[in-house]
Amino acid sequence: MGLPHSTRLAPAPQIASLLPVPAFPDPASLDPALGAFLHQASDQLCQWWATASERSPLPPLSVLPEVAPGAQGLAPAQLLAELQQVMEGAYNPCHPGALAHLDPPPLTASVVAELVCAGLNNNLLAEELAPSLSRLERQLTGWMAVALGLGAGAGGVLASGGSLSNLMALVVARQRAGLAGHQGALVLGSVDAHVSLGKALAVMGLPSEALRPLPVDGAGRLLPAALEDALAVARRQGQPVLAVVATAGTTVRGAVDPLGAIAALCRAHGHWLHVDGAIGAVCGLTRGHRQRVAGLELADSITVNPQKLLGITKTSSLLLLAEPERLGACFGTGLPYMEASWGGGHGGEWGLQGTRAAEVLKLWLGLRQLGLAGIEAVVDGAISRRRYLQRQLEPLGLDLSGGPLHLLAFTPAGASPSQAEAWSAQTRQRLLEGQLMLSRPLYGGRHHLKAVLGNPHTTNAHLDQLADLVAQSLSDQQP
Ligand SMILES: *Cc1c(COP(=O)(O)O)cnc(C)c1O
Repeated sequence: MGLPHSTRLAPAPQIASLLPVPAFPDPASLDPALGAFLHQASDQLCQWWATASERSPLPPLSVLPEVAPGAQGLAPAQLLAELQQVMEGAYNPCHPGALAHLDPPPLTASVVAELVCAGLNNNLLAEELAPSLSRLERQLTGWMAVALGLGAGAGGVLASGGSLSNLMALVVARQRAGLAGHQGALVLGSVDAHVSLGKALAVMGLPSEALRPLPVDGAGRLLPAALEDALAVARRQGQPVLAVVATAGTTVRGAVDPLGAIAALCRAHGHWLHVDGAIGAVCGLTRGHRQRVAGLELADSITVNPQKLLGITKTSSLLLLAEPERLGACFGTGLPYMEASWGGGHGGEWGLQGTRAAEVLKLWLGLRQLGLAGIEAVVDGAISRRRYLQRQLEPLGLDLSGGPLHLLAFTPAGASPSQAEAWSAQTRQRLLEGQLMLSRPLYGGRHHLKAVLGNPHTTNAHLDQLADLVAQSLSDQQP
């Protein structure tokens, strides 16, 4: 197969001789040096994974290799040696004690797809730069939107992170409400809503007061009565509402706002409901846990971050809409320098990003690797571990702040802000010495320790050890 020899193009010899081999893949033959380079890099990565439990979740400060490119390029062996130095200092999400954040170990099919994605080097800006991948993205976002209950015809777009998904959602909501350029428009959400909403408003040219933080109940859920009051006040004062944002999985404790009650208020008053489900929306893909995010299907738009619990490699976020055409209406430019779309539209016309990696590949292959049973098992394991840890911590005299998902925050019962700050700092250090890494968020005015139980390598024995260290730290603190 292939073109006759005379029509094959070979790199100009003088250019090739200035470049280290194999700088670019040989388009005409299988290059054993390139194969060896990729194999060695993959062996090195497998070795890093295989020794993860011997290193701390948080490595000590490491020495970086030379940063600027040298006068001459480097050969594979040197490149791999320098790569190894950076890997030594990398955060270690595969360690069973890595429990601090929403950054789980990577799904292996997702890693493979990421490598191939880089090798294909397609661009989701336009169909002619990513023919199969553009269709894959449209079909997969359509599948997920329908699976989460948004109805026939639902779909969306991938974005490099949930902050961007939230921003795009608010821009679409604003356009739908006819409020583009309106300085007094409001966004209503709870005090526990994600900080990315503030960034979104800044990008949208709205003052920070445009975000009305509403109170939550004792379990961290937005109070529908407070939303109802705020909507009434806004009406009386003639302030238009751009969108209501409900959170399905708040960042510190994993609370899920009462989506059904919030959706009913939005419907009654004609407001856009965006659900920030960066953490919790994946529960909607399971049979056993979808009731934890009941009402998700009533949203106009949903942010989903498969990078946070499912282990799809970063970044992996989707913005899903019941009416995905609104994306094109908002972000379409006509792309005058591209061939017209022959399929469902150029990816660059569906969102804020222009040139965009085909992040859909690692999402698709990762979900294919897990299957619905695997998705269920990942979510189920995470929630079971949260429940187990909660049972171990309950007798210890802590204020526990949790929710229905896989996050749990805690601080000594009745501690003052300064006591909580000192205790959490000391205890985090003590846990780190035991190779258990928790984070230390400020929540409700006091520092907490927070465990995120999304790591499938964490066993009950690790959680027992965690509870023991916390108990010791509490008893050391007694006068
Ligand atoms: C993480 C998170 C985001 C932002 O997602 P990024 O991918 O970090 O940009 C938004 N909302 C919630 C609730 C989150 O936890």
